[in-house]
Amino acid sequence: MTRLALAFDLGGTELRGALVESGGGVVAQVSAPTMAIAGSDAVIGQIIALAGALLTQRPQADVAGIGIGAPGPLDPKAGIVIAPPTLAGWHDVPLIDILGKHFGLPVRLENDANAAALGEWRFGAGRGSGSLVFVTVSTGIGGGVVADGHIYHGRRGLAAEIGHMTITGEGDRCFCGAVGCFEAVASGTALGRRATALTTPGDGSLLRRLSADGDVSARHVVEAARADDISALELIEAEAKWLGIGFTNLLHLYSPDLIVMGGGLANGFDLLAPTIRATVEQRAMPAYRDVPIVPAQLGDRAGLIGAASLILWEGEPGAPLAMAQDEDNKDGATECAGARETSHG
Ligand SMILES: [Zn+2]
Repeated sequence: MTRLALAFDLGGTELRGALVESGGGVVAQVSAPTMAIAGSDAVIGQIIALAGALLTQRPQADVAGIGIGAPGPLDPKAGIVIAPPTLAGWHDVPLIDILGKHFGLPVRLENDANAAALGEWRFGAGRGSGSLVFVTVSTGIGGGVVADGHIYHGRRGLAAEIGHMTITGEGDRCFCGAVGCFEAVASGTALGRRATALTTPGDGSLLRRLSADGDVSARHVVEAARADDISALELIEAEAKWLGIGFTNLLHLYSPDLIVMGGGLANGFDLLAPTIRATVEQRAMPAYRDVPIVPAQLGDRAGLIGAASLILWEGEPGAPLAMAQDEDNKDGATECAGARETSHG
């Protein structure tokens, strides 16, 4: 029987749980709308109920522990959720202690964006790399940084708040209060806002027809661009330029082996990629220009799978670096690899 982890992705609107096996496969999944205004006791009760539902589906499961991705700020080492803006009544909640006592299992906690970065690194688009930056572009922009085989936490676990790096001196105000944040100009919300401002209800444009004359969303822009709508293609180009500027900063700061782009706007990655690439080549210093920028592979399960890996990956620190070296060796010893494949086939 394979080892499994119970994994939870605690969001402000949805609480999702899964049983994940050590290869990253999800064997059972459940979800519930988060009781976000009911306080921490109610939500912890939901986590316990979902765990019960999962274990009922797999009564024989050999569960090694519980991994949780939760909104920051949080202290991953102490296992404390400090004060997430999307969850009312959570103040310094010792989530690891509470769940550890209830289940009698090891519990690990990680910021939700970092958990998604771990998922893509260990089981998705970043497999085998030593360093990567994961960027999620949807309502906002968030991310996680894997540096030299470890999540980069920084002081109080607050590192890599990449949505709030300043990339311009003007434009709409970010919800954080500043002007010119990456998120304020390059999120899916910002793209939708630009598309809405460019058109008017009833103007007959494809963007407004897709939105039924309501506000235009990033999804509508991608859809219209796929139909070769000129306005939408221009909006996509402007969006990709902002993303390219932000990604150039990330290349210079972290020198990752690759950048992985996830979130809702990754659905339009193929449309955005050429201008992102051109912007990086224009702005990055030469040594950084050949770094791959790729779409995420795990979709909205990255956070769950990454949370599970907090348990399942334990005891193998540095394994991804070793994997990267193995890859190098394989390239240098094709005959051996070929022979191995033949003997297995
Ligand atoms: Zn901001």
